[in-house]
Amino acid sequence: MAANRLWLRNPLAIHTANTLDARGGLVIEDGRICELLAAGQHPERPCDQVFDAREHVLLPGLINTHHHFYQTLTRAWAPVVNQPLFPWLQTLYPIWARLTPDMLALATRVALAELLLSGCTTAADHHYLFPDGLEEAIDVQVEVVRELGMRAMLSRGSMSLGQADGGLPPQQTVQQGEVILADSERLISAYHQRGAGAQIQIALAPCSPFSVTPEIMRASAELARGRDVRLHTHLAETLDEEDFCLQRFGLRTVDYLDSVDWLGPRTWLAHGIHFNPDEIVRLGAAGTGICHCPSSNMRLASGICPTLDLQAAGAPIGLGVDGSASNDGSNLILEVRQALYLQRLRYGAEAITPARVLDWATQGSARLLGRDDIGELAVGKQADLALYRLDELRFSGSHDPLSALLLCGADRADRVMVGGQWRVLDGQIIGLDLRRLIADHRQAAARLIAA
Ligand code: ZN
Repeated sequence: MAANRLWLRNPLAIHTANTLDARGGLVIEDGRICELLAAGQHPERPCDQVFDAREHVLLPGLINTHHHFYQTLTRAWAPVVNQPLFPWLQTLYPIWARLTPDMLALATRVALAELLLSGCTTAADHHYLFPDGLEEAIDVQVEVVRELGMRAMLSRGSMSLGQADGGLPPQQTVQQGEVILADSERLISAYHQRGAGAQIQIALAPCSPFSVTPEIMRASAELARGRDVRLHTHLAETLDEEDFCLQRFGLRTVDYLDSVDWLGPRTWLAHGIHFNPDEIVRLGAAGTGICHCPSSNMRLASGICPTLDLQAAGAPIGLGVDGSASNDGSNLILEVRQALYLQRLRYGAEAITPARVLDWATQGSARLLGRDDIGELAVGKQADLALYRLDELRFSGSHDPLSALLLCGADRADRVMVGGQWRVLDGQIIGLDLRRLIADHRQAAARLIAA
């Protein structure tokens, strides 16, 4: 007898790699996709459940590759609304330094809920604040990820270069190198899962050239190689950062990255905007991934990532919403739309198609996280899916369903599945009291600013 076989039958539209014909839908068994059906085709063996998807656009679960969940507590905060990156950071650091475990749990739950409702099934977070009392920040995040049943790449961030030593962050937000490395080791041992279907993974993520020492960059790279985990950092986000690297290290950003042993396929970078042609070739040859964060880059007026040049050189491209203090949302399907439009300004309408940006948010993002089991609707992949309906006012009169998703501005999935389990049904997260969460989170946000 067929056990737990689910046929998602005849979707309105489906986004598959290489635009394979899968109009008959797909079959899921044991949390994975086991059949992809062409138009009119039926499953090889009977299914005990059938879901008629004729009103749904079916995508691989979206994958977010850069975020700072804690920042949902400082969205649209008046003092930083009109600031570029460096002053924006300097104004926010002292506020963020007051973060408590309870606040972080609420912020993480809000960010993940928002991502999940937008169709995201795997999220990376970059957490680099460990003030007194919040030493177990990543442990707090692991709990919330498990509660929501999503997948996550939690990167153990760090800051070790305070103002007193010429860095940007205030001294109370930085940690000693030994503390950072010991905690990184502990987290990998405690939580990092390997292989297909992994739910939680750990990456090492010194924050940025202007907030960590070259020593911690090098030591993190060595530890990541030894323990076979990934490396993540912010790079080439603004020209201020480039000036900082030139002044402090006498190196441009990519030379700096190379000098601390980070230029390779284990590394993925957030932003990656200010590269010269030679640097693009080097990043591509190294296979270093780039997470494009269009909303944040527009919000802080940082610049436009040269995605197609990087991709042509061999660098994988993924998408990220970036922290919620510079976006100020965590909606990944809307971020795909932003990527479509911002990149058209750089490369033209013909080159930047809906299919291409959807590939960035799925397969491309999966490559950044070093995963080949997610990001695609194909046989053998994890059953991580997002289904969208096009029955709202904004879609009325639209023709091509996949294009309509982005052009008409879909902002919410109707159903989301992670590893064969429904996590969102009828636009609601199963088991989450959203009203209560918003009330608690708003209170925490007010307390953080008022403290
Ligand atoms: Zn960031």
